[in-house]
Amino acid sequence: MERVMNMDAVSDGRKYGLEDMVKVGCNDCAGCWDCCQGMEDTIVLDPLDIYRMTGGLKKTFAELLDVAFSLGMVDGLALPRLRVDGAGDRCVFLNAQGRCSIHAFRPGICRLFPLGRIYEEDSFWYFLQVHECKRKNKTKVRVRKWIDTPEPRRYESFVLAWHDFLKETRGLAEGPGGEEKRRGYALLLLRIFYEGPYDPERDFYEQFAERLSEAGEARRAL
Ligand code: SF4
Ligand code: SF4
Repeated sequence: MERVMNMDAVSDGRKYGLEDMVKVGCNDCAGCWDCCQGMEDTIVLDPLDIYRMTGGLKKTFAELLDVAFSLGMVDGLALPRLRVDGAGDRCVFLNAQGRCSIHAFRPGICRLFPLGRIYEEDSFWYFLQVHECKRKNKTKVRVRKWIDTPEPRRYESFVLAWHDFLKETRGLAEGPGGEEKRRGYALLLLRIFYEGPYDPERDFYEQFAERLSEAGEARRAL
């Protein structure tokens, strides 16, 4: 979710790029799982998360709905969120040993944390959320390594394209046109980017580009 924040209050005041070193190393989170509980349903999943999770768990989006994700309205758009359960709002993928049971295909937000993203006109930066991880004596890690995502430049292009498309669609959903149009915009992303199965054998970014073009046309037709 995009939020307006007072960066002085939540960060060290620096903006980081992929090649920068940042103090996030936390000894592989040994013995700590604070980030995987108590977050309610704030982890909104993007299309790459769905590609990874449906491929990793070998289940369709529909099969994982209400098991791994819940659907809800996020700033006017219907989007899936990682499911939390039980006392303490634990992520459903946090196992009894306090480890992530889907580590290899965990969502992008989990890879990023405690970094966040600050968006500018045609780019974005990473920032360190200094109050989020309480572990002492953290070590410096290169951002590229921390986000643990292959082809990080392609990943960043996807993040930006997705952010822009969400923002524009949200603007249209909030604009004039009445309830029917609003509903059309609200459901468009769910239909095109999430419900239709991804081919796990094909490159994600190519499939995303195809869907982006389809969604642009569908949006113009509304
Ligand atoms: S609070 Fe820090 S050490 Fe604990 S799970 Fe989160 S990142 Fe890992
Ligand atoms: S998917 Fe894994 S890393 Fe992310 S919140 Fe759940 S248990 Fe934690």
